[in-house]
Amino acid sequence: MHTQLTKIVATIGPATNSLEMIRALANAGVNVFRLNFSHGDYKTHQDTYNYIRSVAKENNTHYSILADMQGPKLRVADFKDGKVSLKVGQSFTLDMKDELGDEKRVSLFHPEIYRVVKKGMILLLNDGLIRLKVKSFGKDYINTTVVVGGELSNHKGVNVPDVVLPISALTEKDKNDLNFALKLGVDWICLSFVQKPEDVEQARSIIKDKAKIIVKIEKPTALNHLDKIIDLTDAVMVARGDLGVECPLETVPSLQRNIVLACRETGKPVIVATQMLESMIKSPTPTRAEVSDVATAVYEGADCVMLSAETAVGAHPIEAVEMMHKIIMSTQQDDAYQAYLDASSQISNDKTISSAITSSMRQMVKSLEHPDCVITFSVSGKTALRAAKERLGIPILNLTISEKVANQMALVWGVRSIVTESLKELIWAPSLALKLAKEIKMAKIGDEVIISAGIPFGTKGSTNIIHIAKVE
Ligand code: PEP
Repeated sequence: MHTQLTKIVATIGPATNSLEMIRALANAGVNVFRLNFSHGDYKTHQDTYNYIRSVAKENNTHYSILADMQGPKLRVADFKDGKVSLKVGQSFTLDMKDELGDEKRVSLFHPEIYRVVKKGMILLLNDGLIRLKVKSFGKDYINTTVVVGGELSNHKGVNVPDVVLPISALTEKDKNDLNFALKLGVDWICLSFVQKPEDVEQARSIIKDKAKIIVKIEKPTALNHLDKIIDLTDAVMVARGDLGVECPLETVPSLQRNIVLACRETGKPVIVATQMLESMIKSPTPTRAEVSDVATAVYEGADCVMLSAETAVGAHPIEAVEMMHKIIMSTQQDDAYQAYLDASSQISNDKTISSAITSSMRQMVKSLEHPDCVITFSVSGKTALRAAKERLGIPILNLTISEKVANQMALVWGVRSIVTESLKELIWAPSLALKLAKEIKMAKIGDEVIISAGIPFGTKGSTNIIHIAKVE
């Protein structure tokens, strides 16, 4: 199998926000570009967006562009000396005073936290490296004892794992960023620190159908509503950075596995993110453990694996993507890969024509001698998503009339799209499908190809045709 089926997400930052670097990332195997709105100004994001779209034109293909919202991340304010060193057993106060911090206190300008804090609660600072235990609190202060000390500097994050904070997943900054990103025309919006299903509903009421939504799972409270959140969102990111702060670190692998499986069961794309090739920020080669981590996500059947600082600020961004590409290809070539995917694929319980068709593709692939690809006619992308859900081990060519759908589908396992006006005629045209598949070398003479569609085109959830053709 020569097509990279698991997709690669690369975060763009100072190391990569030029036309040349985006071209090089794309040529190394990136399918999805992530604009991180926790960093960078609008002009830079706009330039990056334009570079990506122009490289897509050059390469006659489609890339997804994903705008990641910062979300309501709690952060301490500034210190007089930029940082302090907290010692085990000392007292330390968080408050709303408009003064620079010192060894005894620092400002935390998030009034919501003072309303939900409880005596004995643990607050995690600086990615969980520092632990503070709440001794007492009032409406604008929290007195704590340092349980695990360390260096605390300006703007470090504060995590409060055990409570639902009375805040929306979209801050005022997020709303402005969202507005800007939607005007740019991004394909996916990533929501950070989602706590409950209503957060997704609120975002959907603003985003409408201008972009698809990805929920980052990073709060224990979101895990309590996982099924409902997956139901409401279009895709999920296993955001292991904050997830590993908010939940015991040793639970991250099982959480990852369960979230990936839950998404696959419902056919929602899922991204495994953070620290995948972390050492490549500095080093030209990764650790063996990192290589194994990427392969694990691929074996699990994730739609995408993601690079963050490796491509945003790292010294070896192209090498990191090349490495990820090689790991994916090598894993796909393992005979056990398809066996793992089959073993972890759920037989669909939903008794619809659409799921009967897509699940029977599995049997067809097993029975054919040369099944090289599946072709879907998919105006909305739904038929392509259903085919991807089956994880058949072969690529999916998605024919659509919508540039937007083609861009969005670049994030989905195995899917490559072609935009064709011919579908506007609403005619079921297997010969056109084969011609297009041959043109982009997804099929060759002698191959057997499975073609699927929902007729009439454009009707929701209507996958109702399946056809096997031999390429001539
Ligand atoms: C994460 O926490 O893993 C993550 C992807 O979020 P961010 O990098 O935006 O903090």
